Amino acid sequence: MTDRPLTLMAVHAHPDDEATGTGGVLARYAAEGIRTVLVTCTDGACGDGPGGVKPGEAGHDPAAVAAMRRQELEASCEVLKVDHLEMLDYADSGMMGWAANDAPGSFWTTPVDEAAARLAELMRRYRPDVVVTYDENGFYGHPDHIQANRITSRALELAGTTPKVYWTTAPRSMMARFGEVMRELGADWEEPGSEEPGSGESEMPEIGLPDEEITTWVDTTAFGGQKFDALAAHASQGENIFFLKMGKEKFTQLMGVETFVRVHDTTDAELPENDLFAGLR
Ligand SMILES: [Zn+2]
Repeated sequence: MTDRPLTLMAVHAHPDDEATGTGGVLARYAAEGIRTVLVTCTDGACGDGPGGVKPGEAGHDPAAVAAMRRQELEASCEVLKVDHLEMLDYADSGMMGWAANDAPGSFWTTPVDEAAARLAELMRRYRPDVVVTYDENGFYGHPDHIQANRITSRALELAGTTPKVYWTTAPRSMMARFGEVMRELGADWEEPGSEEPGSGESEMPEIGLPDEEITTWVDTTAFGGQKFDALAAHASQGENIFFLKMGKEKFTQLMGVETFVRVHDTTDAELPENDLFAGLR
């Protein structure tokens, strides 16, 4: 036995990503007595300001947005019972192609080794058994999500062995259903990642994976309420209001199972698996 608790570390780009992507596993594993650590890389300053004011519009004050989003993140962590919140506080780079990508101090322009060294320091401190982050395309191509993948991969090399490493994903079957539900709710739903205007409704989004490529399906439906409330803590952001419109029950039905691809493993736990900690306890 080791002298420390089993530990889950989730590395996310912005305040609110922890809720949508991993709110279920953070809540579930905390309830199971596993120590949870959330690393949020950016300050989220390119998010919506109070009253829904968008970045670049008059009245959008990045510093005020960052301060508001920090409070929202802390509230979300309280709901999810995250044990340790670590903020790297890089400047939000905005969506691909925005001027904020290249602004000094942006996460996207920070050398991978530099940010990875800071993350590796946290990995040495917490010694996570399981690390979760995005895939190489940042799930949907956001520069900060791609950068989170890059610094995590590098930090894992620097810090030494973590038994299990995962990338978050979504099954294509679920993405299709998700679009249906959003349209039923009357939302003007555009599939994330479909950049071309007028792309047909019948086209499959280029995000997520075919179901058979998903290695790990974690049932977090019992924690759907917490996941919803964590997202509600980030209600200043337009995309989240969109999710919240679903209501708790529908949200849990649709978002209750969180899926991952196991990209590193020393446990030989059999695949597919239904527990990020399979083989570790
Ligand atoms: Zn994000």
